[in-house]
Amino acid sequence: MAHFPSSPPEDCADSPGMIQGQRPDGTLDLDASMETLQRYNDLWFTDGSIILRAENTLFRVHMSQLSRRSGFFRDMFSLPQPCADLASDTDFLEGCPVLRLHDAAEDLINLLKAIYDGPTFGNHDRNDFRLVSGVMRLATKYLIDSLRKRALAHLSIPWPSTLKGWDAREDIARAYEAERTAHRGHRYPSPIDVINLAREVDAPELLPAAFYDLSRYHCSQIFEPGPDEPLSGSTELSLADTRRLALGKEVSQHAVTALIQGMGQGAPQGSPRHASSSTTLRQRPRGSGQICVSAAACRKDFLELVELATQHYLFDRERGCADPLYVAEELGQLKSAEFSECKACAKSLEMWAARERERMWKLIPSWFRLENTGGS
Ligand SMILES: [Zn+2]
Repeated sequence: MAHFPSSPPEDCADSPGMIQGQRPDGTLDLDASMETLQRYNDLWFTDGSIILRAENTLFRVHMSQLSRRSGFFRDMFSLPQPCADLASDTDFLEGCPVLRLHDAAEDLINLLKAIYDGPTFGNHDRNDFRLVSGVMRLATKYLIDSLRKRALAHLSIPWPSTLKGWDAREDIARAYEAERTAHRGHRYPSPIDVINLAREVDAPELLPAAFYDLSRYHCSQIFEPGPDEPLSGSTELSLADTRRLALGKEVSQHAVTALIQGMGQGAPQGSPRHASSSTTLRQRPRGSGQICVSAAACRKDFLELVELATQHYLFDRERGCADPLYVAEELGQLKSAEFSECKACAKSLEMWAARERERMWKLIPSWFRLENTGGS
């Protein structure tokens, strides 16, 4: 760990001569430098004890506050400060040492606001992601555990590790799509950006949902998005993650086919129990709803559904084609009470779909080769 403030934490050689008001001895001439450097008034405390600089923005804050929250700053500020050397390589403004940080000013604004005011995260849209990801990055870098936890919990709502959480985020995306007639993908940040953030801050728990979401797009939407498409302007996937995406996307598409085949095989034969052909209505346990009235009719009905689903999902190539969780949900509703004569079959299909969805959800990390580590 570098001594503070006798030397900055990182090499500053990347921006020689950027500070216009810098004197030959390394201190700052405030009046002259203020032409390029800007105070951030909301985070400029007159009794602050240190000035942080990110890009050309300055923040006057308190070493005590930073130390209280951040293991990184605590260590840095607690080191002995060799006073004799101070003036030689430390900038001063208004009597405070200036610490140059190699972070985006926007990220630092969001971090400092979260430290002073408490985090105020939003509704998981794209603007919110810019804010939260900045906090996440810097809370990780500067060892601010409590903030990192809060930010990660917030990110885990749209990028959840449970199927229940996934369904809730999908309900919101569908409502958004219906209200705005915009692609639902605009409701949340690009999953590519989420994957890259998860890599950067070591948060593998965000990866399965982000990879699954990404896999639902066509390759052209992922790699050559049009200007108004949801993935336009995303960061770049690493080569290793592009490979994971390709492998997982293939499995996911096979899963749709397997679902439809599975639905056909699950057609009435024993589950639910079917009345034999001689069973009359009178023999049917009253109110149980567990037995088909007519096995033959139910079976025919099922085969028609399979045919319908095959047409719809495998040949139409509509949105559902690469979203087996969605396909399973829809298949499960195909015989819902209003469409089906037989409540037993409707119930049976619904339960089959729910089981399939749980099963697939658990497999998603393996589809995208994310087991063990979230691996890099
Ligand atoms: Zn039935």
